[in-house]
Amino acid sequence: MPIASVNPATGETIRIFAPHSELEVEQRLARAAATFLEWRRVPIAERARLLARVADQLTAQRETLANLMTMEMGKLRAAALGEVDKCALCFRHYAEHGAAYLAQQEIATDAKRSYVRHDPLGVVLAVMPWNFPLWQVVRFAAPALLAGNVGLLKHASNVPQTALALEAVIAEAGAPAGAFQTLLVGSERVAPLLADPRIVAATLTGSENAGRSLAEHAGRALKKVVLELGGSDPFLVLPSADLEQAAKVAVQARVQNAGQSCIAAKRFIVHEQIYPPFAEAFVARMAALKVGDPSDAATELGPLSSASLREELDAQVQKSVAMGGALLTGGHRLPGPGFFYAPTVIADAPPDAPVRKDELFGPVAALIRARSIDEMIAIANETQFGLGASAFTRDAGEQARLAAELEAGSVFLNGMVKSDPRLPFGGIKISGYGRELAGQGIREFVNVKTVWIGA
Ligand code: NAP
Repeated sequence: MPIASVNPATGETIRIFAPHSELEVEQRLARAAATFLEWRRVPIAERARLLARVADQLTAQRETLANLMTMEMGKLRAAALGEVDKCALCFRHYAEHGAAYLAQQEIATDAKRSYVRHDPLGVVLAVMPWNFPLWQVVRFAAPALLAGNVGLLKHASNVPQTALALEAVIAEAGAPAGAFQTLLVGSERVAPLLADPRIVAATLTGSENAGRSLAEHAGRALKKVVLELGGSDPFLVLPSADLEQAAKVAVQARVQNAGQSCIAAKRFIVHEQIYPPFAEAFVARMAALKVGDPSDAATELGPLSSASLREELDAQVQKSVAMGGALLTGGHRLPGPGFFYAPTVIADAPPDAPVRKDELFGPVAALIRARSIDEMIAIANETQFGLGASAFTRDAGEQARLAAELEAGSVFLNGMVKSDPRLPFGGIKISGYGRELAGQGIREFVNVKTVWIGA
């Protein structure tokens, strides 16, 4: 795949980048390894001050960074500005709380003193996706830098300018050269990097296939990995729910980021008692979405990020309909330049149809009727994915049961699944392993070191 910015709203190629040569990669890797030896010794309070300055830089450059994301992957302008702000919040969060997350822990034993330290590991490779081109990287970068690690970013090939812009922001905030660098390389160059002894761990956010490949190569080299992979999040609507509110949030949860989010709700599982009014409200809201130019403030649904993604999505829709799904709205590409797809709802598809079994990365919802809460939970848990789950119910007993029985890394009740620097984020089953954000996230890439001191 060429490393290039292509505007998905017009199909126009903006800029093509030559991949880094072997020599350029070696220089960056050597610089990262050398920087780590210094950075690990910088007091954590000073590292925290760097993070605060990165947050300031992000805020100062929010317009430019948001424009880049809109241009490179078609994100709605308001969402792009929100993403920059969230990144600044994450840097601030770790600037303020990182030291406490990594505090030494005293433990009484037979020693005069014994305690646990949290030391950095070294150079961590981050392989990242295009859908939240700043936020996905920041979730890794802020805690990694605070902990004393250094980062090498291999970003998705269609967002090189955003990748380079983040590198520049972190450097302008005063990070040492080598603390956070971008490698402009294709995915075929990830395996050799994982084999290099200077890289001690890796994190990947992306598809199941990319995750399997990274885990395989990292496994061969016995390196720690965090994987944030795909999802097919269920969204349950029970009889006690506020239906208008549930329908409104359901649409937002499905079409956020043009449906290209791992935690977008994808399967809408509705109790039969309230199925007709919910389905009517949901389909009407989906059909009424204003699709168009992502830089126009009135637009509610922008383009998909690439022509190939739109082809794949359309094939999944057509197959789901051929297998028995009923098309309630949409189901087709939109004409004209750019990679637009009509908001789509498919009801009554069988469990093995793509819309129920696979991850659909676009504005396509599966609507599923269920007879009881037992059946709703069984359907919610029927996929191999286990990233997020949301449910609308005002019944406290149902809430407790859903929180316990939904197989997912997070359960949101009466709200849509979202990430927050204060809360751990990650999945189970084929949605990956390990956690990002909060205390759990920063402790993924540290050496939990026991120290025992005799009398
Ligand atoms: P992708 O094709 O897997 O790409 C993600 C990254 O992995 C890119 O940098 C890509 O590089 C690289 N890559 C692809 N194949 C690889 C391989 N065999 N070995 C090493 N690296 C490889 O995914 P995407 O289409 O960009 O992103 C969408 C996916 O990410 C969805 O499945 C979505 O659910 C998931 N996602 C998960 C989370 C989460 O937190 N769980 C968050 C956001 C997205 P190239 O671009 O050069 O191919």
